[in-house]
Amino acid sequence: MSESTVRIGLVLPDVMGTYGDGGNAVVLRQRLRMRGYDAEIVEITLRDPVPDSLDLYTLGGAEDSAQRLATRHLQKYPGLQQAAERGAPVLAICAAIQVLGHWYETSSGEKVDGVGMIDVTTSPQDKRAIGEVATTPMIPGLSQPLTGFENHRGGTKLGGEATGLARVTRGVGNGVGDGLEGVVQGSVIGTYMHGPALARNPELADLLLSRALGVDSLAPLNLPEVDQLRRERLRA
Ligand code: GLN
Repeated sequence: MSESTVRIGLVLPDVMGTYGDGGNAVVLRQRLRMRGYDAEIVEITLRDPVPDSLDLYTLGGAEDSAQRLATRHLQKYPGLQQAAERGAPVLAICAAIQVLGHWYETSSGEKVDGVGMIDVTTSPQDKRAIGEVATTPMIPGLSQPLTGFENHRGGTKLGGEATGLARVTRGVGNGVGDGLEGVVQGSVIGTYMHGPALARNPELADLLLSRALGVDSLAPLNLPEVDQLRRERLRA
């Protein structure tokens, strides 16, 4: 690995890998390599301390019990928190939003202290949200509709330090009646979208990459199959 290799942290895929969100790290690596960058995925499992030195981080969704294990690990080894403080981009999918918040209540009613990186709290909703979700992004750097597949019982309320990633046009999103999907705070972007989200939303992938590389924008990649997938999903 050369010194200029971009290192993508895939955080706790052994417990937060249930929904295929590890694919987000693969998409990031591939989009870097197609542009001529060296890029590697660094898997951080429950056996490893969490390094604070990586260029960006991704975390995936999980069942309630698995996300509890992940929460404890991130509390014990605060490398992710330190990396986010220095501005390293962090992508948090579904359960990972809940884990990074102040607390979350599981479906069985247990309240668990989160990592406290983002100003959100999560409580179970009456009905599980399952299905396609589509949204209109609200943050600078994103102009295309976002699309994904949601599957969660938790509903996430944003506090004053956090803002929504997008407005829901289809599906449930954060699920607390404010019409929002996802969360943005500092260098953390969270979303309930599985898919994997970055395979479906290349603009979001490139936003994370441009922040990790410290550049204003990246040259577009011409990938007709990705455009086709987006058209199909937005029609679905
Ligand atoms: N266990 C959490 C919930 O049901 C998260 C699920 C997920 O990550 N898909 O809300």
